[in-house]
Amino acid sequence: MSQSIIRVNQLHKSYVTGNNSLHVLKGIDMDIKQGEMVSIMGSSGSGKSTMLNILGILDNYDQGEYYLDEIMVRQMSERRAAEFRNKYIGFIFQSFNLIAFKNAMENVALPLYYQGISRKKRNSMALAYLERLGLREWADHLPSELSGGQKQRVAIARSLISKPKVILADEPTGALDTQTSYEVMDILQEVNNSGITVIIVTHENDIADKTQRVIRLKDGLIESNHTNVKVAEHQSAGTLIANP
Ligand code: ADP
Ligand code: MG
Repeated sequence: MSQSIIRVNQLHKSYVTGNNSLHVLKGIDMDIKQGEMVSIMGSSGSGKSTMLNILGILDNYDQGEYYLDEIMVRQMSERRAAEFRNKYIGFIFQSFNLIAFKNAMENVALPLYYQGISRKKRNSMALAYLERLGLREWADHLPSELSGGQKQRVAIARSLISKPKVILADEPTGALDTQTSYEVMDILQEVNNSGITVIIVTHENDIADKTQRVIRLKDGLIESNHTNVKVAEHQSAGTLIANP
């Protein structure tokens, strides 16, 4: 059995606003192995984004334990959290989160800026990733000049450029039509084939059906955790998408 990249024990999280406290995660256990492709499902408000934000060290949890690559993640300073995110994690969002006044290449290159890599080096790497995603010709276009599917491919390129071990995708197909959604899922499948762990939050069954394992959240707890035998069996050979 391969190593756990993400291990969560009895995780609790509440949001406190004024005098009110909302107990969103009520004791979550999760074990995700390196190289898995997993979806997290649940109705709106069930805590999917909260869970993903904790896994991405964008938010803290109140109780329990979270190990990322067997390292305990708990009340890290913002600086250390940023280092961890840089080293381990790539994010993809429903709304793409591209910077409107930067072109595709600059958006993809951005994570490398924070690593202090020279402009020349980061732009050439960004172009290589855009090429892999079939967007080389769109490098100097602004997000507003791209379709939804193209924007999400730019966001995927950006998530890959720091060579993460884990991709966390929060409803990555939520703003796309069915055809484009499936294209994005195919790309995420290829990313996963290259060895990167992929965790996708979705409320769409046809999207979850394309992942190896489906974890369902309900009322702050894990309702079910099923392996998708069909998908697990049809894993194809590796690709070079993540390592141009
Ligand atoms: P999902 O992604 O499954 O739709 P979320 O994790 O975004 O659910 O939210 C779970 C619950 O927590 C919802 O009731 C939501 O309103 C609440 N919530 C989310 N973020 C915050 C926040 N920053 N402050 C207060 N309540 C929040
Ligand atoms: Mg959400």
